[in-house]
Parts: sequence; structure tokens; C-alpha cells
Amino acid sequence: MSTLEVADLTKVYDRGSPAHTALREVSFEVGEGELLSIVGPSGCGKTTLLKCVAGLVEPTAGRVSLLGEEVTGVPEGLAVVFQDYSRSLFPWMRVGRNVEFPLRTLGLTRDERRERVESSLAAVGLAGKTRQYPWQLSGGMQQRVAIARALAYRPRMLLMDEPFASVDAQTRSELEDLTRAVHREFGMTILFVTHDIDEAVYLADRVIVLRGSPGAVLSEIGVDLSDERDQINTRSLPEFVRLRSSVAQQIRDAAALGSGTPS
Ligand code: ADP
Ligand code: MG
Repeated sequence: MSTLEVADLTKVYDRGSPAHTALREVSFEVGEGELLSIVGPSGCGKTTLLKCVAGLVEPTAGRVSLLGEEVTGVPEGLAVVFQDYSRSLFPWMRVGRNVEFPLRTLGLTRDERRERVESSLAAVGLAGKTRQYPWQLSGGMQQRVAIARALAYRPRMLLMDEPFASVDAQTRSELEDLTRAVHREFGMTILFVTHDIDEAVYLADRVIVLRGSPGAVLSEIGVDLSDERDQINTRSLPEFVRLRSSVAQQIRDAAALGSGTPS
């Protein structure tokens, strides 16, 4: 059964002049527990798409349904990790409080909340950091806190919008592996948006390739790589190289065909 259905989703931003069509008739489905990545050039509508799924932006046409229900506001059981960790954590709250904050709406006891905070921080390798402030941590660690906060909420669906775009390459690799590890451990559905083709292929079970201006689905590609992935070995496998080349070629062909504006 599909958890998420996006059907003929169109979004026109019409406040400006001229109006801008960010997404045109985008359709895809996501199965329960799937890790799907969505890749496309900057400005192709990835963030707009995630915002529509999160109920933060209203579609101009088409619909988004979660578990058969049309999304009209922020759905329950959904968590989002944004690109900019420096703005997503509250600087005046210690790490533990940051992670605990969204749990207040869930009707848990104090002990249950504390247990979730501790287990989530442990899952991202930050056990023992609860008393620190975000600004005392590196960028990669702050992004781990944001991931822990999402995990503590025990979302059925986790949306990640270019979450590792502003950390260094080594940290990024670690966070990619962490994403796969928590996906395996917690089994939630993950939608991972990125403009990085390698990252999209490395992480996912399936990749949706978007073109730009207006954003539309170019193709869906199943990633037939073993579940056991390794930053160095997996990326040098012929199948990985084939997949990444195929995605890169599609994006390039689409841009060359015109109407794709540079980002
Ligand atoms: P991406 O995340 O792929 O970089 P976005 O979804 O942020 O793309 O943006 C898609 C297009 O829509 C871009 O051309 C962007 O300038 C435009 N856009 C995004 N948000 C707004 C808005 N609130 N009002 C008008 N145009 C917007
Ligand atoms: Mg974006």
C-alpha cells in the first residue's frame, strides 16, 4: 500500500508578476517504509514539493494524500529536517530541550519524554550531549541534533530537504550512513530531497528525477544496490556508476531541451 500519493500536483506562485509555475503535474507514490530520494537541479521545485507534502504550502491543482487522506494542513506523524541547521535549533535551549520540544504535544509523561530524548541522541551518536547548547557543537553535530529531534517524535514519515548541503564532505558521508542506519532501525518512510546525484543514488531504494522550470518528473529509477552500502566500495560499483550517469544524463538532456532555466 502506498503511504503517500502525489497526484498531478501543480504549484503556481502567483503573488509575483509574472506568476511562476514551480511544479507542473507532478505524480508519484511512496510505499510504507520506503527511502525515496528526489533529485533535481536548484530551483526545480524540490522544496516546494516537500512543503506541499508537509501541508505548509497549498497546491494550486492536484492533490497530496497521506494514508488515503488529503493533506490540507501539517499532518500528524510527520517530521521535517531542513537544510539550515543553524536556524532549525533554538540557540537558547540546551540540546536535550531542543529534542524534547516537539514531544510536548504528544501527551507523554516526563519519563517517556526523557527516554525518547536519550535514545534518539544515542541513535545519532550524541549520547551525553544533552546539557550542551547548539552553538557549542560543530555544524555536523547540530544537524545530528535536528535528526535526533525528528527521530524522537517517532514520525511515520520523515521529510529531509537537502539536509547535508552545508556540512563538510566527511561529515556528509557520516550523516548519509546515519540516515540509512536510522531508516533501518526505525523503519519510517523517508523522502530525501537533494541536488546531489551521487547522494540521491547512494541513499535510496528508488530515485525520482525532476527537471526544472517548471518542476516535473523526468523518471523514476529503482536502485538495485545491496542494502549494505559503503561510501567507498558502493560508489565504485559498476551499477552505481551506471545509475549516477543515467540520472546525470537525463538532467543534462532535459536542460538542453530548453525551458530549463539555469539555477
Ligand atoms: P528547489 O528547492 O528545487 O531549489 P524551490 O521549490 O525552492 O526549488 O523553488 C522552485 C521555484 O519556485 C524557484 O524558481 C523559486 O524561485 C520559486 N519560488 C519558491 N518559493 C517561492 C515563493 N514563495 N514565491 C514565489 N516564487 C517562489
Ligand atoms: Mg530547496
